[in-house]
Amino acid sequence: MSDFSYATPILNRFLSYTEFDTMSDPHAAFRPSTPAQNDLLHAIEEDLHSMGFGDTTFLETGYLIARIPANVTRPVTPVAFMAHVDVADDVQGNGVKARVIERYDGNDVRLNETYTLTVQDNPLLKKHTGSTIVVTDGTTLLGADDKAGVAIIMALGEYISTHPEFEHGPIEFVFTSDEETGEGMDAFDSSLLGAKVCYTIDGTQGGEVEAECFNAATVSVDFYGIPCHLGSARGKLVNSVSMASSFITMVPKNESPEATDGRYGYYCADDIKGTLEHTSVTFHLRDFERGELDRRIEALKSLASTTEKLFPGGKVTVEEKIVYTNMADYIKKDPKVMESIFASGKEAHIELQEKLIRGGTDGARLSAMGIPTPNIFTGGHNLHSRYEWLALDDAVDCASLITEIVRYWVK
Ligand SMILES: [Zn+2]
Repeated sequence: MSDFSYATPILNRFLSYTEFDTMSDPHAAFRPSTPAQNDLLHAIEEDLHSMGFGDTTFLETGYLIARIPANVTRPVTPVAFMAHVDVADDVQGNGVKARVIERYDGNDVRLNETYTLTVQDNPLLKKHTGSTIVVTDGTTLLGADDKAGVAIIMALGEYISTHPEFEHGPIEFVFTSDEETGEGMDAFDSSLLGAKVCYTIDGTQGGEVEAECFNAATVSVDFYGIPCHLGSARGKLVNSVSMASSFITMVPKNESPEATDGRYGYYCADDIKGTLEHTSVTFHLRDFERGELDRRIEALKSLASTTEKLFPGGKVTVEEKIVYTNMADYIKKDPKVMESIFASGKEAHIELQEKLIRGGTDGARLSAMGIPTPNIFTGGHNLHSRYEWLALDDAVDCASLITEIVRYWVK
C-alpha cells in the first residue's frame, strides 16, 4: 500500500457527501423517509460505475448493493462492508457546511460566534494535533455518522480498482437509508447478499470495535379505568391516570438509563398519554442478557396484576415487542469474525479495543438475519450534535484496517 494514501480519497468523498441533505425523518410513512437519501445513493452508484464496478443493485426503498467479484480462483469467504447515508435529526442535519482544519493546532475551535468546540470537553482532540480534522459551522451536525463510513468504504473501492495486483475474494458494499430512524433494515432482503460476514463502518473513536449490543423490547402498557362524574365519584371512579402513575412508581429507579452504564440494563418509561378512562405508557427495556430482558418483561406483567389488585375494577394489559437482539450471540458462533478484525489490527499496527454498544445497529438486525456483523470505528466524535467532528487520521486507520480484513479472508 506504500504508493497509496487513503487521506485524500476519504476527505474529498466525505466532503462531497456532506452536501447532500440526507437528514432522515422518523415520522415519514414511506422509504426512504427523505428523497435526498436516494439522490446520494445514485451518486455513489455512479461513482462505483466509474471505478469499474458495474454490478450494482439500486432499490427504490433506499438500498444500494455493489458486488466486486473475486480476482483469485480459490474459494474465499465472501464479505461485505456496510454504511448508512442518512444523518440524524437531533439537530439540523441539512445544509451542512463542513470546515476542514489542516494541521490542527491543538486549541479550542471556534465554530461560529456562539459555539466553540473546546479541548476541555473533547480531550481526544489533543491526540490529533498536527493532523486534519473536519468540523461544522455550529449550525448543523456534521454527518460523519455515517458519511465517514460511506467515504471509507468507497476509498477501499478506489484502492481495489487501482490495484489489480491486490488479491481479494468476493466483496459487497451495502449502503442503506433511514438507519437513524431505527428502520434501516425493515425493508432489507438479506438474500440479496452473498456475504457470510459483514462489517458496519459506523462507530466512533479510533480503535474501537463493537460486537455486542443491547437486547431491546418495546412494551406497551395500557390502563383501563372506570370513569364517572367527579362530583359523585366516591367509591365508583377508577382513574387510569392514577393507575399508571402508581405503576410507574413501582418500577425500580436504580434500573433506569440515568442510573446505569456498562453492562447494566434498564427500564425507561416514555410517551405517556391518558384520560380517566384509558392511559397508555410505552416502556423501553434494554439488557445485554436476554434472560434479564425477559425478567424485566415478566416484572412489568407482575406489576400489572398488582396494579389491578390495588385498583379494583381497573384492567391493565401488557404487550411486548422484541425490537432487536444482542448481535454477540450470532457473532460468537463464528470466532473468525472477530479474529479477522483483531488479526488485521495487528497487521495494520492499529491498537484495537472492544466496546459495548448501549443501543442497537443495523448490524444487529443483519446478524439476526444470519450474517454476523460487528461494527468498526470511523473517527467521528460527538455524533448527532453541532459539535460533531471527524479525525481524518482515524478514518484513514479504518480504511487500512478493512483493507487488511479483505486480505485476512483471502489468506
Ligand atoms: Zn450511524
